[in-house]
Amino acid sequence: MLHPDIRLVWKDDKVGYGLYATAIIPTGTMVYVQDALDIVIPPDSPLLQDPSYAGWIDKYCVIDGQGNHIVGWDASKYANHCCHYNTLATAYGFEMAIQDIAAGEEITCDYLIFNLEEDMPLVCQFEDCRKVLHPEVFEHWAPTLDRQIRLALQSFHSQPQPLLAYLPAAHYQLLRDYLLTGEGYRPVSLLRYKSGKSKLLE
Ligand SMILES: [Zn+2]
Repeated sequence: MLHPDIRLVWKDDKVGYGLYATAIIPTGTMVYVQDALDIVIPPDSPLLQDPSYAGWIDKYCVIDGQGNHIVGWDASKYANHCCHYNTLATAYGFEMAIQDIAAGEEITCDYLIFNLEEDMPLVCQFEDCRKVLHPEVFEHWAPTLDRQIRLALQSFHSQPQPLLAYLPAAHYQLLRDYLLTGEGYRPVSLLRYKSGKSKLLE
């Protein structure tokens, strides 16, 4: 479920839709939480082998640390990648603003965190754009992502969190324990799915 101050906007024929803030969304705010209405397709589902669905699944699903394909039931599936992302997925079941997001600004994330199954060309239009996302560089980037998340989490309790009611209690407990003690942070490496094939290669 998306934060209530985010709306879906048609950008252009090349990119399609994007998500935009309708009000200031401060650092540390949950912008998306995986909730009970989202569709979860397990890794052994025959649906993943169905060629008529392959294009839709590729375009709208993210893959979690257990290999499940997740489709957001609301507009959350339209979040675009940007190498200058302003939100990140955490290993606590939600995505969070890692910087203050102004009203009218696009909500963007780093697709690298969602277990891409192959290289993905990028169209960020920034000079320092990575051009192509290679799934195998996840481990290289993970410490940077964790640093950004831990910094933003410091503001978690200072912000209104309209999505908190949808966060599973077990996840919230883990988060509270970490925020209280500074110990037991759940790193983004927990979001990395190691398929049977990758395991054999290790
Ligand atoms: Zn880029």
